[in-house]
Amino acid sequence: MLNTLREAPAEAEIASHRLMLRAGLIRKLGAGLYSFLPLGLRALRKVEKIIREEMDRAGALEVLMPGLQPPELWEKSGRITAAADVLFHVKDHQERRWVLGPTHEEVVTDLMAGEVQSYRQLPRTLYQIQTKYRDEIRPRFGLMRAKEFLMKDAYSFDADETGAKKSYETMVGAYRKIFERTGLKALQVEADTGVMGGASSHEFNVPAEIGEGEVVTEEGGSYVATIEKAEGKPAARKGVAGSLEKFPTPGIRTIEDLAKKHGVAAQDQVKTLVFTNGKETALILVRGDDEAQESKVARALGAGYRTAADAEIKEAMGASPGSLGAVASTLGGKKVTVVADLVLKGQTGMATGANENGFHFKGVEVERDLKIDRWADVRTVREGDQSASGKKLKVSRGIEVGHAFLLGTKYSVALGAKFLDPHGKEQPAVMGCYGIGVTRTLQAVIEVHHDKDGIQWPAAVAPYTVMVVTLDLADAAVKKAADDVMASLEKAGVDYLWDDRDERPGVKFKDADLLGFPWRITLGAKSLAAGGVEIKCRRTGAVEVVPPGQAGGWVVNRAEKN
Ligand code: ATP
Ligand code: MG
Repeated sequence: MLNTLREAPAEAEIASHRLMLRAGLIRKLGAGLYSFLPLGLRALRKVEKIIREEMDRAGALEVLMPGLQPPELWEKSGRITAAADVLFHVKDHQERRWVLGPTHEEVVTDLMAGEVQSYRQLPRTLYQIQTKYRDEIRPRFGLMRAKEFLMKDAYSFDADETGAKKSYETMVGAYRKIFERTGLKALQVEADTGVMGGASSHEFNVPAEIGEGEVVTEEGGSYVATIEKAEGKPAARKGVAGSLEKFPTPGIRTIEDLAKKHGVAAQDQVKTLVFTNGKETALILVRGDDEAQESKVARALGAGYRTAADAEIKEAMGASPGSLGAVASTLGGKKVTVVADLVLKGQTGMATGANENGFHFKGVEVERDLKIDRWADVRTVREGDQSASGKKLKVSRGIEVGHAFLLGTKYSVALGAKFLDPHGKEQPAVMGCYGIGVTRTLQAVIEVHHDKDGIQWPAAVAPYTVMVVTLDLADAAVKKAADDVMASLEKAGVDYLWDDRDERPGVKFKDADLLGFPWRITLGAKSLAAGGVEIKCRRTGAVEVVPPGQAGGWVVNRAEKN
């Protein structure tokens, strides 16, 4: 089943997706649903093998949990609503409801609640490699963002915080080895804890233009964080102190409008964003040239807040977006909580909306004139910002291949994973959870390792190490040499695919380049006349001629040196 394609379907937007389809590794069933063909599955199995070896070495125990899960567990953890956007719901014939697992914190915690009674049974880390289901609104880029995908998920259970941190470090260490072995230079990035909750978190991120994650790196590389988490300072502005003054701004709706028509630069404006939890209203203030960062806003406001709709804004503020502001004298009688970004501290000579359509204030001195209940870092870091240690920050894109969270006791408390400590006192286990997108990792390898002709597999995850291409097979000497090559590969334990198709050499070479196994061994009358078989390195293009019977040993030798 070696069905290579000259062209990939137009919907495949990125190189790795195109190559997986063209090389016949996967085929699409529907949006975000893929079948693995034999070659794709072989590569996937090699990634899994590396993961299993490193998990086992780190002391984690492999289990396998159901994908079909009782929603009651998700109600107990509160994630039936918190994760509602990705949860698939199904019903059985008795009208009983189930969810399809997007992850397994609930199930594994319930499992451990039954298995662990005493501190003597801790610590314990369990892992599985299993199919996950997520109702992603926008599945795309092939295996990168699928509705059904393979994840390695691990969960650690410890008797205390110190133990949990140790388990976390062990897992994160295993992750570094896994990505290195699969041929990926993954950055370990400080991350936001998001809906998972918990104290600390790291993402593993493979730098790539097409990545959906944004990573902020400090010059020199000692600070690396996701855009959701990163903190930085923009270039300072100079404000001229003055008195508060209302001025007419008919038709002005945006920061850009005010800048263009009234000459107030974006950085001299205060941007006012309105959030609601259905009952209460909160304002987030950032500098006009800054964007609010969703995850930081969520942290600053607490659970349940969302962007207010225009009608809600009008009702709460008495004005429409474009004329909003937090000038204290205009907020009289309005019940709003105001959280201001730290960058606004001490600023003078700014402009902001007057909560009256068609009017703004200038001469705003933030701490004198605005109603501010709390200060928080809620802005999104920008390229060129300064880090805490005064270095320049750079923003780049990458693929999130893995994620680790120190969870604390959120799930063990909610789902009753308790144990008796040495004093006979009941305690909740301190947990961590650790995910690797196995299928996403496989595709990330291709995104990073390819050229214009096809894939350039790192040996550790190539579907096969060698492609044997035979030409002139009718020639008895060539047939004999082919047998010798393959016997030698087998003896050396090198896996190979034999392209014995009755095709023109050009077709076979093109396919060999597209499939991209590390080595191509070509033999025919011409190569034998030159003294043996040609071994070509896919990555460098270097060719050497080797006697047929030595091919296996040569490849093993070379692989060790590489
Ligand atoms: P993303 O931000 O990309 O949606 P996530 O934060 O939702 O990822 P986790 O819940 O931490 O992801 O899942 C662990 C790992 O599973 C991720 O690091 C990623 O490699 C992989 N993963 C998550 N969602 C998908 C998906 N829809 N398709 C393929 N792999 C995925
Ligand atoms: Mg997600």
